[in-house]
Amino acid sequence: MSILYIIATPIGNLEDITLRAIRILGEVDAILCEDTRTTAKLLQKYEIQKTLISYHSHSKLSKVEKVFELLEEGKNLALVSDAGTPCISDPGVMLVQQVREKFGSDVTVIPVPGPSAVISALSASGLPSSEFLFLGFLPHKKGRETLFKEIAVSERTVAFYESPHRIVKALESLQKFAPGKKIVVARELTKIYEEFISGTAEELLAHFESHKDTVRGEFVVMVK
Ligand code: SAM
Repeated sequence: MSILYIIATPIGNLEDITLRAIRILGEVDAILCEDTRTTAKLLQKYEIQKTLISYHSHSKLSKVEKVFELLEEGKNLALVSDAGTPCISDPGVMLVQQVREKFGSDVTVIPVPGPSAVISALSASGLPSSEFLFLGFLPHKKGRETLFKEIAVSERTVAFYESPHRIVKALESLQKFAPGKKIVVARELTKIYEEFISGTAEELLAHFESHKDTVRGEFVVMVK
């Protein structure tokens, strides 16, 4: 029986990987990954040499068929993304669904837990996090305004991912639709310039206006 491992990898600091993840990455027959160069760097650190197969959410059917073939041959595979937990705003959801549909109990899908930006951000945010609403990446156009209206009335902490190109836009929308809400922005988690910035949308906009050099990197936005 083949196994497809879904393995979480670091979100910045390469030390953030579990002993189990390292062992399994070393044991599998091949690793499905997004950017082979990113995964190669991680494997190099842990002295793992392995066949890498690139896999994206837009990968062609032929790539999925290749994965099916390997599983049919009894090979064990690992799926990783560039950072964090695969399938969480990352490629892999379709693949896991297709593997489960095609093979049922003939292929075991096993999660190997580890870092995820949203969980790391919430854990150190100081915001209520026993229950929260995670929106992944907000849509750029259709439905975006509706989501901000939902965030404004949500009783739960709401978290979403944002890119440096859109962080100011997102804060402007929060200023418009949720002016009184407390916002925590987690930037560059586990990296040299990691920081948590909190305040109202207006205060955060003023912060980024006067610290333009920090409108870069990776962001998790949390709203309560
Ligand atoms: N699957 C990943 C996870 O489990 O966290 C998320 C992948 S998603 C394609 C990438 C987004 O996650 C980034 O645009 C950013 O919003 C967030 N992210 C990833 N790494 C981060 C970090 N080190 N600090 C802050 N946010 C991060």
